[in-house]
Amino acid sequence: MSAIDRSLRVIAIDDDPFELKLITHQLSRLGQHDVMVFTDPVEALDCIDEAGVSAFDLVFCDLQMPGIDGIAFQRRLVRSHFEGELVLFSGEDDRTVQAAANLARRQQLRLLGILKKPINLEALRKILVAATPVSSDETKPARKMYSPEELRRAIDNDELINFYQPKVLLADGKPIEAECLVRWQHPTDGMVYPDQFIPVAEQHGLIDDLTHLVLTKALDQSAQWRKAGLSLRVAVNISMDNLSTLDFPEKVMAALETAAMPAESLILEITESRLMQDPIAVLDILTRLRLRRVRLSIDDFGIGHSSLAQLRDLPFDELKIDRSFVHGASGNPQKRAILQASIDMGRQLGMQTIAEGVETIEDWKVLKDLGCELAQGYFCARPMPGEKMPRWISDWRQRYQEIERESVLLS
Ligand SMILES: [Mg+2]
Repeated sequence: MSAIDRSLRVIAIDDDPFELKLITHQLSRLGQHDVMVFTDPVEALDCIDEAGVSAFDLVFCDLQMPGIDGIAFQRRLVRSHFEGELVLFSGEDDRTVQAAANLARRQQLRLLGILKKPINLEALRKILVAATPVSSDETKPARKMYSPEELRRAIDNDELINFYQPKVLLADGKPIEAECLVRWQHPTDGMVYPDQFIPVAEQHGLIDDLTHLVLTKALDQSAQWRKAGLSLRVAVNISMDNLSTLDFPEKVMAALETAAMPAESLILEITESRLMQDPIAVLDILTRLRLRRVRLSIDDFGIGHSSLAQLRDLPFDELKIDRSFVHGASGNPQKRAILQASIDMGRQLGMQTIAEGVETIEDWKVLKDLGCELAQGYFCARPMPGEKMPRWISDWRQRYQEIERESVLLS
């Protein structure tokens, strides 16, 4: 049995001290992990509250405990904004455990898996392999939220700028698209990322203006690339809130006309971060965009509400597989299975498949083996200002040759 090479910070909770001894022993056989054990869930929660929401990567919790049971424990964990992953272990029957697991998922806890008692070492090893450690606070950008007034001013003062991240063909390394990612060049705070202002825009009716600005700039950039001899489609992210006004396709067509770009050169990436308010309006808008040859991509496929029902009902051209199934798939059978199924399904539905979050040569290679068409991620390029694209393309051509040689050696 091979050990896990990274060290995880683990809390284990069980009212039975013998079970705790057992799991501690098993964890130690599987690598150097930092393990704290508690027979009292309340003490464990106090410890989590004190140490901070990101102080532990994994919590193993027994379902059947006197006092606070596993379900009440989950509820408290949600309230603590715990950022690590949860593993339920239990001797209860499957249906009870599944119900507890569903409950955890519904409460947005990161449920990593279920272990049946007595715990099997191989099952435990699989759980540890699949774990995604919480990144430390230092690596996270400061999370300041902005007011709608500040954002309004930024739009009016032209402080929003577009970056572009290329998408390349896995078959021959050719860059054929670039996703536009908006940034806020804040006068005092420096570069501000979309997760800090898109929700504000959505909640305060600024999203249409923001999207229009981003779209106009992206099409201008695309026209400039074209003049310089680069043919890159440009992809713009669209919020569900953009799809509530029926004249959205007309606005998009007008922007294309102003930039003198064909509809085929534009892709709209649609994420569904929440349930559709008005599914008929969305279907109406997307169908009309498609009739006019604008390409549609289902973004972050596999998480949130980007689901199979969307694929069935909406006319997408491109299936963009969420990063959480991509990076690390070569060493993780679960991720790999989902990745394979998504790629196969996209192909059978006649869609172009793209994987986001490609960070290593192993990620690149597994996508190529599984027949995915496009790759996007730090492995190829970080998002960059539009004018840097021609230079990146010539550098990438060289690097691609080396990658090809290296991936032959990997097989
Ligand atoms: Mg996107």
